[in-house]
Amino acid sequence: MSRHTSFRIGGNARFFAQPSNDDELRLALDFFASKGEKIYMLGGGTNLLVRDEGVDGAVISMRGGWKDIQIDRDDGTVKVGAGAALSALVKHTVEAGLAGLEGLAGIPGTVGGALVMNAGGKYGNIGDVVTSVRMMDKSGKVIEFSAAQMKFAYRSSAVGDRIVLDAKLKLTAKGADELKRTMHRVLEEKRTSQPLSAHSAGCVFRNPEGQSAGALIDKLGLKGMRVGGAMVSPIHANFIVNAGGATAADVIELIERIREKVRSQTGIELELEIKIW
Ligand SMILES: Cc1cc2nc3c(=O)[nH]c(=O)nc-3n(C[C@H](O)[C@H](O)[C@H](O)COP(=O)(O)OP(=O)(O)OC[C@H]3O[C@@H](n4cnc5c(N)ncnc54)[C@H](O)[C@@H]3O)c2cc1C
Repeated sequence: MSRHTSFRIGGNARFFAQPSNDDELRLALDFFASKGEKIYMLGGGTNLLVRDEGVDGAVISMRGGWKDIQIDRDDGTVKVGAGAALSALVKHTVEAGLAGLEGLAGIPGTVGGALVMNAGGKYGNIGDVVTSVRMMDKSGKVIEFSAAQMKFAYRSSAVGDRIVLDAKLKLTAKGADELKRTMHRVLEEKRTSQPLSAHSAGCVFRNPEGQSAGALIDKLGLKGMRVGGAMVSPIHANFIVNAGGATAADVIELIERIREKVRSQTGIELELEIKIW
């Protein structure tokens, strides 16, 4: 799984499938169900830490298909597949002169992963522009959720056990040049404040109510702290980077040390934003 995660960490999955359409996905689900395998859905693997022991089950990657991005400039509607790169969606909608996603520039991963996580930041979240999401349940049945049913909240949604196939969005017309400038400014801001070229999974911890996890960790002087090849980024304290040869065990040990420090110094219990498999 080190080949499929931005951390570049993780042992083998027992099975790995990369279907390219709904029918193939259904076949894969049936096959793994008949073998009694637990299923793990993979997008870009940019919010994920896979243990060194690997995955005790079947990983299904959504990057083999669902890549279509259909943009209707006239009414601002967009239909996008779960396997499309979020960065491609942002770029194409900005170039089409449609506003709503330019603040998500620089967030890696797929549209499916972004919908599960309600990816975003201070310039908004993807859930803000969603009108509906088409999903498949593990029995192969397709269902559509409205934006309200998706219950988008801070880095969470109601996807649960289902598989995101595609989504419809509603954007607003605005000048493409102005949107491009905004997108470049957001990208520049991200480049200077986050270790974008390092191997990481983005922010490790959720922000505690009304506080910034990164600021808390920074205040305790933990930037640069290391366990093996895992290091608290010197650029952004809520990022752990694989500084070379890190194992999942290194990252987990570092997470525990950060949590312990924050707990003993501030009484705050940090919760994980990244998923651990
Ligand atoms: C350098 C860097 C910067 C980042 N900056 C941000 C940021 O600014 N804001 C932010 O919100 N996040 C950020 N992230 C985290 C991450 O990019 C987002 O959470 C992203 O949306 C995850 O998408 P993914 O496709 O990589 O999902 P994955 O990591 O593959 O999966 C994440 C979760 O979604 C599930 N999943 C994925 N696809 C599907 C699907 N089609 N159906 C059902 N379940 C699915 C997985 O099972 C898993 O539980 C950053 C990460 C990195 C490495």
